Amino acid sequence: MEPKPSPRLTAINQPFLRGSNRDELWLQRCVQPACRKFVFYPRVCCPHCGAGALTWEQATGRGQVVSFSRVFRPQHESFFPEAPYYFIAVRLSEGPLFFSRLDHQGLPVETNLIGRQVRAVFVQHTPEQRLPLFELC
Ligand SMILES: [Zn+2]
Repeated sequence: MEPKPSPRLTAINQPFLRGSNRDELWLQRCVQPACRKFVFYPRVCCPHCGAGALTWEQATGRGQVVSFSRVFRPQHESFFPEAPYYFIAVRLSEGPLFFSRLDHQGLPVETNLIGRQVRAVFVQHTPEQRLPLFELC
């Protein structure tokens, strides 16, 4: 079986990926006093006000599911052993929308996840990289 696709480490996403390897969720935050919004995914400027200066802060890892889909046939064969799984959109408590998967051992199939509180848990994605999934609180 092919290995899982691995995120490419760049100067822009490095704090997020290194934080994930320490089981910490890190987000960018706009430095403009009138904005100060959190930003995810990593980028070079603030999508809210256009400011070119973003800093990094550790996030709580907490959020709420706003959408989900149960995946029976993943697009990459390396995920087949984990299917079926829930692909989820989480509104982080800091504001950004974060797409991930739910760690869902033993969850009934018909569970409605909308509005459920979740927290980040970190799993070994590849030998070099840990990434956040979420579990129900
Ligand atoms: Zn901003």
